[in-house]
Amino acid sequence: MKALVLDAKWEPRPDYTVTPWEKETGKAITGSSVWRHPQLNVQTVADPTPGPDDVLLQVKACGVCGSDIHFYEKDKDDYILYPGLTKFPTTTGHEFSGEVVAVGKQVKTLKVGDMVTAEEMIWCGYCTPCRNGFPNHCENLEEIGFTIPGAFAEYLAIGAKYCWKLDAIAERYGSKEKAYEAGSVVEPTSVAYNGIFPRAGGFAPGAFTAIFGAGPIGLASIALCRASGAGLVVAFEVSENRRAIAKKLGADYAYDPRTVVPHQVLMELTKGEGVDFCVEAAGAPTKTIPEMEKALAINGKIVQIGRAAERVPMYLETLQVRRGQVYGAQGHSGDAIFPSVIRMMASGRLDMTQMITARYDLPKTVEAIAASGERFHGKITVKP
Ligand SMILES: [Zn+2]
Ligand SMILES: [Zn+2]
Repeated sequence: MKALVLDAKWEPRPDYTVTPWEKETGKAITGSSVWRHPQLNVQTVADPTPGPDDVLLQVKACGVCGSDIHFYEKDKDDYILYPGLTKFPTTTGHEFSGEVVAVGKQVKTLKVGDMVTAEEMIWCGYCTPCRNGFPNHCENLEEIGFTIPGAFAEYLAIGAKYCWKLDAIAERYGSKEKAYEAGSVVEPTSVAYNGIFPRAGGFAPGAFTAIFGAGPIGLASIALCRASGAGLVVAFEVSENRRAIAKKLGADYAYDPRTVVPHQVLMELTKGEGVDFCVEAAGAPTKTIPEMEKALAINGKIVQIGRAAERVPMYLETLQVRRGQVYGAQGHSGDAIFPSVIRMMASGRLDMTQMITARYDLPKTVEAIAASGERFHGKITVKP
């Protein structure tokens, strides 16, 4: 079959200490400190064979994520930009949907012909964090499209327990094609849902919310805040096109943070009361967190969902005086997240297909990733 393969050289930076675990597994914990000279090519690879607990999916749609862009873009020393867990070569792509075309012997929950999306985090279910209910922090984590083969491919084998059916979404749209597109944005929407609800505990209806960054995770946050009864949804985003999509998805206001002072705008819009719930989805916390801090309402919350491997100075007095709280969020598994997002989409309260602004064929996946890197589009989807 055809698949987009990412290969890179294992050349740890001189100041990076490779752990015995990294040596043994061939996995880099901080990818951007280890993988050099990345090469992305659509090529012919062996067809995947499902194990007894797996299903074989024919991939129908797979979205380009910021992390895919960070595999494609390199720093001045030719290292990948993505700072997370990685093992190459592998096929990338992790925001996908597909049709079940074969099932392993032990699979009882899915059958051939089912339409599904799937989690990207392959949690083990046996380690202490998993058993304690924290699959997003699994100690034996494999990640589809990062450490094991992903979905920029014609086929993908995956454990049935990571799959979620899309029937309800198909009923809503009345079109399989549209349902597969919606299915491919369940994963990024679930990342936003995990940050806002399970991690940060959400907000009461009527709350004033602000979302910094309107890439796919920020756009999903905007739509979720709107659908969940926020009294105000304000977005900050540098791309004009993404500001327009933010408004389509439910932002009351969308500003370019370079032309306004965000905390001043927020204090004006809230008539001096401040923001109850702030989402960091820009991955630029050194710029965004100080603005949130200055606009935080009494009892306000900040949730960090965007990734940035940097230290951020915070004035903790704000958290004390304003009874504030800050949450860190990672992942999308557990806590009924995938099924809840699917329900919201099936109900019509959340139409994340509006953020898909371009579609590419599988042979053009590298072009799709390059176009995503311009940060103009909402979400680009590859349809094998
Ligand atoms: Zn992603
Ligand atoms: Zn585990």
